[in-house]
Amino acid sequence: MSFLAATATPTDDASGVLIGLLFITLLLVTLGYALGCWLWPFGACRKCHGSGKRRSPFGRAFGLCRRCGGDGRRLRIGRRVINALREVHSKADR
Ligand SMILES: [Zn+2]
Repeated sequence: MSFLAATATPTDDASGVLIGLLFITLLLVTLGYALGCWLWPFGACRKCHGSGKRRSPFGRAFGLCRRCGGDGRRLRIGRRVINALREVHSKADR
């Protein structure tokens, strides 16, 4: 029994380190993404790919993209989260 216990301990430690590394990596990626969303809050609109135009299937006519209203920009999901958190924070201050 003591033999089994001795072999089980190192593998437990190894998986613990692995989970720790995974957690740190995930944390760094999340922080990097959050920083990116803070510095560059906008992404190109997925519908019009940043052009802001809605192409007509015939001719050269175009209208404004309905999704972004001709802006060609969309607020990134991470930035929306930051804005939401900020709103909660400012409400708590009052
Ligand atoms: Zn658009």
